[in-house]
Amino acid sequence: MSPPIVTRRSAQQAKIQTRAMASKSKTGTPGAPTAAGGSAGGISSSSGSISGGFNAADPRKTNKPSAALLEAKRRARNNMLKNQGCGSQESVTDIFQNAVNSKSMVRKPTALIYDESMSQHCCLWDKEHYECPERFTRVLERCRELNLTERCLELPSRSATKDEILRLHTEEHFERLKETSGIRDDERMEELSSRYDSIYIHPSTFELSLLASGSTIELVDHLVTGKAQNGMAIIRPPGHHAMKAEYNGYCFFNNVALATQHALDVHKLQRILIIDYDVHHGQGTQRFFYNDPRVVYFSIHRFEHGSFWPHLHESDYHAIGSEAGTGYNFNVPLNATGMTNGDYLAIFQQLLLPVALEFQPELIIVSAGYDAALGCPEGEMEVTPACYPHLLNPLLRLADARVAVVLEGGYCLDSLAEGAALTLRSLLGDPCPPLVETVPLPRAELAQALLSCIAVHRPHWRCLQLQQTYDCAELQGSG
Ligand SMILES: [Zn+2]
Repeated sequence: MSPPIVTRRSAQQAKIQTRAMASKSKTGTPGAPTAAGGSAGGISSSSGSISGGFNAADPRKTNKPSAALLEAKRRARNNMLKNQGCGSQESVTDIFQNAVNSKSMVRKPTALIYDESMSQHCCLWDKEHYECPERFTRVLERCRELNLTERCLELPSRSATKDEILRLHTEEHFERLKETSGIRDDERMEELSSRYDSIYIHPSTFELSLLASGSTIELVDHLVTGKAQNGMAIIRPPGHHAMKAEYNGYCFFNNVALATQHALDVHKLQRILIIDYDVHHGQGTQRFFYNDPRVVYFSIHRFEHGSFWPHLHESDYHAIGSEAGTGYNFNVPLNATGMTNGDYLAIFQQLLLPVALEFQPELIIVSAGYDAALGCPEGEMEVTPACYPHLLNPLLRLADARVAVVLEGGYCLDSLAEGAALTLRSLLGDPCPPLVETVPLPRAELAQALLSCIAVHRPHWRCLQLQQTYDCAELQGSG
């Protein structure tokens, strides 16, 4: 809700006229009653404690304002009405109004969306494939074991419409996957899948991809319209590698990007923050919003100077966006494996949170992959499940606490299930579990990547300009 606005000019005019009228009446203008006490004749207060505007010996005992004051108020009101709609007026925001409004804010429910059928999608020719149905069932089981699902507002899943998919993907991209629906020939499916990087297609893939995207959009709809406070989409197939016209990295339609575009187009949001802590770079999401200053995309991913999948130059820290979107794309490349809670917490505290506070997002969407969690064979990082609530919790004070968490990767079933369930617990408002292990200092490789990222973003964000910079010549000169 926007705070009420008064115009500074009208307020000044009202004040000047009131004083003028009062001083006129003091010097005996015919017909105007004498102002009491010869005071400055300020604008009356509702309690009547300012004496100048009242025509009585004891202003506290009278409730009738002077004719001069009434006339001044009338003129000021007319002036204000006249000035409304005039482009030259200066607006002054009431700095107390947001604080006053916040008293009526109430916490809404945490939404949860999933569909049991999402366990059907599997690789028919590789039973050991990492992107397996248990990724979905184990997360859900753990949420149920902790009695979390019953505390959530469960939303019915829904499929995305073709129009919703075409907001970002090409028609051919949509139709090509639709044609695979229901194909029972495994060899043909394997051949079709091999045309793409890290993709398998199942007869149910098209329908389930629509369901994953539609459910993410549904969740975002509930947050933006105020029907839920925050929420989680436990979905598969994942989405953040899916590009405009290419299936990639277990992904077909880009769930998070489609929900973001929906919030921009339908709900007219102006500032959305996407945080992607999946251990792989979400190059699909990055590309969709690379020129768009309405979306900050912030990704933390294993990079190893480009030797880790998807081996893209654009995954490095210098990819900061282009055109109007310059400065709105963040990549924190992890150039070593074994990164710990300390490294991830440093990224959040030193870079993400200051930027998020300055950006003031209206909505936060988390591309939540748990493949940086301890034990994941793809990430080879060492973030403990208990750390995820510590990453999420500070985000809940931003964006009116409108935070949507959307499942991406995570291939160690134990740490995936525990990390995702603890994230949901955090959305529900439970305290963060203590980090029993000592939080190590960030590693040298992380410090270097983080400082590089800060350096390239420094011109675009005031919060990153606290420290002075010196060039080499200056430093040598001072030595
Ligand atoms: Zn991943």
